[in-house]
Amino acid sequence: MYEGAIQDLIDELGRLPGVGPKSAQRIAFHVLAADPADVKRLAQALQRVKDLVRFCTRCYNVAEADLCRICRDPRRSDEVFCVVEEPKDVVAIERTGEFRGRYHVLGGAINPLEGIGPDSLRIRELMTRLAEGTCKELILATDPNTEGEATATYLALMVKPMGLTVTRLASGLPVGGDLEYADEITLGRAFEGRRAV
Ligand SMILES: [Zn+2]
Repeated sequence: MYEGAIQDLIDELGRLPGVGPKSAQRIAFHVLAADPADVKRLAQALQRVKDLVRFCTRCYNVAEADLCRICRDPRRSDEVFCVVEEPKDVVAIERTGEFRGRYHVLGGAINPLEGIGPDSLRIRELMTRLAEGTCKELILATDPNTEGEATATYLALMVKPMGLTVTRLASGLPVGGDLEYADEITLGRAFEGRRAV
């Protein structure tokens, strides 16, 4: 369609999630018309995220050091762990201001159709952390959809012999959806109203 660099950019943008061919074209021409300094900042931000960001060695949240900001914070409680699927769920829960414990990011949810079993997730790492013995309550905040429910059920069974309180977020979250799309108030209420499983 176009030649050379502009088509390369359209092709690359079109590979991003949620960017269709029309949007890719619109963004590419926006970049072409933009101030060179703005484009340079965008290019640097893309490169820096790959160079600097890694996963926290304790909770697997995104981090720019060995441990993420939350694991490094001495004021947070080691008695409550909240299990989520993705780093973006940590952000959603932090926005509610309802949680002052630690997180564990699984890196997805059990999904047999896509070949994602418990071994593909950071469940073994969670068990190791729980065996340290500080955690008294484990909150299962996986997404309110089929995969998230299956993952929560699996984890509840796994940790049962450890004698912890295991809770699941209250209903009221949009079923079938993603945790990150729930508004802060709904998610905050679901947190307060969590129930033992
Ligand atoms: Zn961490």
